[in-house]
Amino acid sequence: MSAPRLEIDLDRLHHNARTLVERLACQGIAVTGVSKACLGHPEIVRTWVAAGVSSIGESRIETIEALARAGVAVPMLLIRSPMLSQVERVVAHAASSCNSEPAVLEALAAAATRQGRRHGVVLMVELGDLREGILPADLEAVARLTLALPSLRLMGIGSNLGCQHGVRPGDGTMAELSALATALEGRFGVQLELVSGGNSANLPWLAAGAAPGRINHLRLGEALLLGREPLDRTVIPGLHTDAITLVAEVIEAKRKPTLPWGDRGHTSFAATAAPLTDRGVRQRALLAVGEQDVNPSGLEPPPGLTIIGASSDHLIVEGSGAALRVGEEVRFNLDYSALLRAMTSPFVSRCVLARSPAGRRSVGGQPKQLLPLK
Ligand SMILES: *Cc1c(COP(=O)(O)O)cnc(C)c1O
Repeated sequence: MSAPRLEIDLDRLHHNARTLVERLACQGIAVTGVSKACLGHPEIVRTWVAAGVSSIGESRIETIEALARAGVAVPMLLIRSPMLSQVERVVAHAASSCNSEPAVLEALAAAATRQGRRHGVVLMVELGDLREGILPADLEAVARLTLALPSLRLMGIGSNLGCQHGVRPGDGTMAELSALATALEGRFGVQLELVSGGNSANLPWLAAGAAPGRINHLRLGEALLLGREPLDRTVIPGLHTDAITLVAEVIEAKRKPTLPWGDRGHTSFAATAAPLTDRGVRQRALLAVGEQDVNPSGLEPPPGLTIIGASSDHLIVEGSGAALRVGEEVRFNLDYSALLRAMTSPFVSRCVLARSPAGRRSVGGQPKQLLPLK
């Protein structure tokens, strides 16, 4: 089995998606599975669809096109505002897109007219995290423009908090989004089918018993993949945090001093070499994985191992238990940044854990069966 590799447990991913879809359905909220962190991995996306997500959200039209080619048939929502240079592709392959710019809406409408299609539009509203979004005071004008373009269909409004400045979704912002939806409906005599409250950062707010108001949709990535909410990285009760793990291989294992010797300058990835204390001679191992494969600071090592550092192609760990051996494999949990980079690296293979014919994981001491994808 090649290393480094991501091991993807579809049963656990299915459990995470099914659990959230069912929980949120009780609050009248539908889920779009956001696949950007797994680059639209077709088996993950199919697992989410089987678990009941209503659509797939992606930032990149290239991924949406690949999913269409792979035969994934649920509606695709482009969750990042389309580039003007890509509107034709967006209209051709995404059922709908999130938008905040009038010029893009006009270009989408022109492309949709040319292609004889109607493109769905979710207008994103800025609620304070200062990434994408129309300022609330300008929303009515942009909605009017959208409604005046017959090849566009105003599906609803949405917001995105947390990603840029860590702003927490809460009663205030979500009530504001609800009120904006109701105001638009009253102003224009339309019915908005979607009020998309946000991403995985909205889950703690709902779990705390908040009334969703008009919010009837969330776009979830991290919670489905990693079982955590992004703002405090807390585990979402009942979800697996190890549905996807990274396996790397030991290429050197030695006892070495903890203090480097010689005159020191910059390191590969830090401007200043960190001050060090002498902790004597320790058991160290080098793993064949590095900054080019994963964000090392987003790796959680198994108990007994500590990550000492990393460069482009090496990860250094120190062990307190039994010494690692050359050729041995070490398994890490990942955070979102580590997962994103590992999925994107051409050097990390992706292995899907096979299900037994009965659809149940094999238990007991048997080695896990793996189906290499790449
Ligand atoms: C990435 C993204 C999401 C998903 O965020 P998670 O924190 O992974 O749930 C949702 N909406 C938009 C607009 C995004 O860019």
